[in-house]
Amino acid sequence: MHCGMCLPTCPTYDLTKLEQHSPRGRIALMRAIADDHLELGPAFGEEMSYCLGCLACETACPAGVDYAHLFEVARADVEKSGVMDNPVRSSIRTALLKILFTHPRLLRLVGRMLWLYQATGAQWLFRRLGLTRLLPAKLRKLEPITPVVLPKFSHQLIRPVEKPADGTRYRVGLLTGCVQDLVFADINRDTADVLLANGCEVVTPPVQPCCGSIHGHNGEHAVAQEMARRMIDLFDPFAFDAIITNAAGCGSHLKHYGRLLADDRDYAVRAREWDRKLKDVNEWLVETGFRVPVSEAAESQKVTYHEACHLCHGQKITRQPREILQAIPGVELTELPESDWCCGSAGVYNITQPETAAILQERKVGKIASTGAAVVATCNPGCHLQLVNGMRQAGLDIRVTQPVTLLARAYRAQSPRG
Ligand code: SF4
Ligand code: SF4
Repeated sequence: MHCGMCLPTCPTYDLTKLEQHSPRGRIALMRAIADDHLELGPAFGEEMSYCLGCLACETACPAGVDYAHLFEVARADVEKSGVMDNPVRSSIRTALLKILFTHPRLLRLVGRMLWLYQATGAQWLFRRLGLTRLLPAKLRKLEPITPVVLPKFSHQLIRPVEKPADGTRYRVGLLTGCVQDLVFADINRDTADVLLANGCEVVTPPVQPCCGSIHGHNGEHAVAQEMARRMIDLFDPFAFDAIITNAAGCGSHLKHYGRLLADDRDYAVRAREWDRKLKDVNEWLVETGFRVPVSEAAESQKVTYHEACHLCHGQKITRQPREILQAIPGVELTELPESDWCCGSAGVYNITQPETAAILQERKVGKIASTGAAVVATCNPGCHLQLVNGMRQAGLDIRVTQPVTLLARAYRAQSPRG
């Protein structure tokens, strides 16, 4: 089927109006390679790198084409073929994907060093003295978007096991993520508090591996499988009512461990159970009937909601975060035009394709500003950072947060125990 229903939903096609930059064009390229009508070369690699992986095309497709899977396989083929390899790219990929994001303690150490650099004022001085000019051109562009690392990481804020004060209804595992752990550990704490307030015993292992989503989305299939095995070893899915994530990009990958490990005799059964138990926090709260905070306590604010692609398109979760926001007293939810249009973060897209990412970021910030909201909520650390940077660059005083954080605040305001 070549209907083209996906074309108007595709941000890269919208920018260039070129068929090759559309979902239909990319699928045609994938098919041509699979049928040996086209050789897998650098042009194909670049096309796959230009695709955001936002999956808007998947939502639009009436034929149910599983673009996410096709895209992941295509990126893995590109990496296997080596057509994009050069020494700099290979070293960066090895350092990031195979070393840093496979060793959680090392990642924390790097996070700690970055925190020291920021907290001691060294970053401020570096910028003030104009030393950023000495950086290579690509790094110079990225330097201003370096995320602010928090002084405490998740294991310093959340105990390995926490029990709800008013009796246990469920036992859940809480995933702390990797970027989320360094930059948004406070949101992990908020997530734990909200789960506790809703009768969940929360199990949070202090050292957690990366879930492998960054590997899966970037063509490192074998490493993604290894990370999935490690995660399943850490959280036995049969021991929990649910395993909770609050990062949409991770969740969209985490829900497919079954497919990833389908041929693994030792893990296939647990991986299928894992898929059944894996829940985005918004999904879980609505499914189990979350406690609505009482009215008097919460602050009044106009809030809008940006949909992370991997939540709305990847996991088809659209209603639940809005339900949570609407239930918070004082929150006036105002719809964001193009709420499900990608903000340009898309994993590492704002690093690999900064120009396109910046165009999408600007478009998103403009739409948010048009709502007149004081706060924008979103459910993914990548989008969160992209929006924070976008607001700063545009000189806008619009706060970025997560629905779960607003809910946690409302609970805390009504009761010191949360
Ligand atoms: S994933 Fe997003 S950018 Fe890629 S083809 Fe689909 S809609 Fe276009
Ligand atoms: S991917 Fe789906 S929506 Fe896009 S052209 Fe093919 S069938 Fe149509």
